[in-house]
Amino acid sequence: MSNEQLSQLRKELDQVNLDILKLINKRAELVQETARAKEKQGANRNYDPVRERNMLDLIKEHNDGPFENATIIHLFKEIFKAGLELQEDNHSKALLVSRKKKPENTVIEINGEKFGDGNEHFIFGPCAVESYEQVAQVAAQVKEKGMKLLRGGAFKPRTSPYDFQGLGFEGLKILKRVADEYDLAVVSEIVNPADIEKALEYIDVIQIGARNMQNFELLKAAGQVNKPVLLKRGMSATISDFINAAEYINSKGNGDIILCERGIRTYEKATRNTLDITAVPILKQETHLPVMVDVTHSTGRRDLLIPAAKAALAIGADGVMAEVHPDPAVALSDAAQQMDFELFNKFMEEVRK
Ligand code: PEP
Ligand code: MN
Repeated sequence: MSNEQLSQLRKELDQVNLDILKLINKRAELVQETARAKEKQGANRNYDPVRERNMLDLIKEHNDGPFENATIIHLFKEIFKAGLELQEDNHSKALLVSRKKKPENTVIEINGEKFGDGNEHFIFGPCAVESYEQVAQVAAQVKEKGMKLLRGGAFKPRTSPYDFQGLGFEGLKILKRVADEYDLAVVSEIVNPADIEKALEYIDVIQIGARNMQNFELLKAAGQVNKPVLLKRGMSATISDFINAAEYINSKGNGDIILCERGIRTYEKATRNTLDITAVPILKQETHLPVMVDVTHSTGRRDLLIPAAKAALAIGADGVMAEVHPDPAVALSDAAQQMDFELFNKFMEEVRK
């Protein structure tokens, strides 16, 4: 073969590449148009296995080689997949919680604190509500520091069924009583969708915990009420899972959602969880929601609370959550990581510097 013939073949190959390029982009446009038509008809699922089987059969019927059918099917499956991904990209851009949908920050006002306004906000309180006296002592400390929110668990999702499960509605009543006495807003976890309605009487922020981040019935129920939700990241949830969990709440009508990074499970044993600190700026970029960091559950270590809180605020978190207990050594849960009042004072001094 002469050099001239070779360069002629190469030219033809280049042209075929360009033809294929034109055709696969044309195909993508048709796929997008089909998706729009289907959406108008109310269908929200793009993948249609029956339709895909028919397309593959038609292609096989017309395949005269030299490629084997299996190779052809593989190549076309890749093209089909890219078409679906294109639609999913468009879809994720349209999430209600995404910054693409709403560029400006969502600001959520709770008892005068405006989460998402660019200032630092704090949520403190014991891991679990144990008694009126215990909660009131913490509330006095929180109040003295000029803070407006009090946390405390009444429904505790514990790893072991034999561990302290919380005081339930009795606990919520204690929180409400203390909150009224000290003019604080209550943040407390709800684990059962059926409890939300009744809990609204006692709490100002519904917390959804890490273990329930993908409890979709709970997310939907929280989406149907008019109360801010503090949504914690699941311990094995990706950032995309986390954003989609927030979307579940928002899709039901409630857009007042604060995201809370609380550490994820990794192979590292030096800390209770691994604080995924860069999740904060990623969540701030991808969504318009306020983002907090729980330094207690992410580290599980008292000696790391101050540096972790500093890191959270430095990287752009809207706030920090931490647990405070009058006597952590005898706490009914999370004894190893709650702050006593002395450390609480130091924590605020250091973090506010
Ligand atoms: C909590 O904040 O009380 C709690 C149980 O945390 P998490 O759901 O993040 O484990
Ligand atoms: Mn705890």
